[in-house]
Amino acid sequence: RIGVVTIDGPGGAGKGTIARELAGRLGWHLLDSGAIYRLLALASLRADIGLGEVDRLVAVAEALDIRFPTDGPAAGEVILDGVVVSDAIRDEASGERASRLAAVPVVRQALLERQRAFRRPPGLVADGRDMGTVVFPDAPVKIFLTASAEERARRRHKQLMGQGVAANLADLLQELRARDERDTQRSVAPLRPAEDAVTIDTTDLSVEAVVSAVMERVEA
Ligand code: C5P
Repeated sequence: RIGVVTIDGPGGAGKGTIARELAGRLGWHLLDSGAIYRLLALASLRADIGLGEVDRLVAVAEALDIRFPTDGPAAGEVILDGVVVSDAIRDEASGERASRLAAVPVVRQALLERQRAFRRPPGLVADGRDMGTVVFPDAPVKIFLTASAEERARRRHKQLMGQGVAANLADLLQELRARDERDTQRSVAPLRPAEDAVTIDTTDLSVEAVVSAVMERVEA
C-alpha cells in the first residue's frame, strides 16, 4: 500500500503548514481536503445553489475541476476551472459555508473517492477533519493537531493579514468556535481523533518542533 500520513484537527491548529512542510520534506503529494470543501462552497455560490438543493450540490461536487499544482509557476495555488482561487476560498465566509456543506452526508460521500484518488506513489500527506477516521482509515501514521482556540484565532489572523485580508481577532475567535461546534457535533464524520491517532497540542510548539515530532513517527 502507498504510504499516507493523515493530519486532522480543528481550524487554525496548524494542519496546513505542517502538512505542506512534511510533504515537501518527504517529496510526497499533498491533499488539502478543506480546500475541496471550500471550492465546493465557492462553486455552489457562483452557481447560485442553496444549501438545501442537495442534488445540484452533488452534481457540482462530482464535476469540480480542481488542481493543486506542486511545481511550475502556480505551485502552491488552488485552481478551480483553470483559474487561481487561492485567496477567494481563504476568507471566513468560505470556511463557514464549507463547514455547512460539509455537514451534508451525500456531499461528503460525493467527495470521498475524489479524495482517495490523491493517494499516489510515492506517498500522500492528507490534511482535514476526517482523513484518519473516514477517508484513509488504514493510514499507518495518523496525527491529530490541536491548539487553544485563542492561539488558533491568532494564527488565522496572522495568516489572513499576510494575504492582505482584513480580519478582526474577536470575530475570528467567535467564528472558529462556531465552526468547531458544527464540525464536532455533526452526525456524519464528526471531528474527532482516530483511535490510533497521536494527538499533539501545538499551542506552545514551533512549526519545526511539530514537524520533527511527526517525522519521527513517519520514519519509525
Ligand atoms: O480546514 P478548512 O478550514 O479549510 O476546512 C473548511 C471546512 O471544511 C471545515 O470547517 C470543515 O467543516 C470542512 N471539512 C471537513 N472535512 C475535511 C476538511 C474540511 O468537513 N476533511
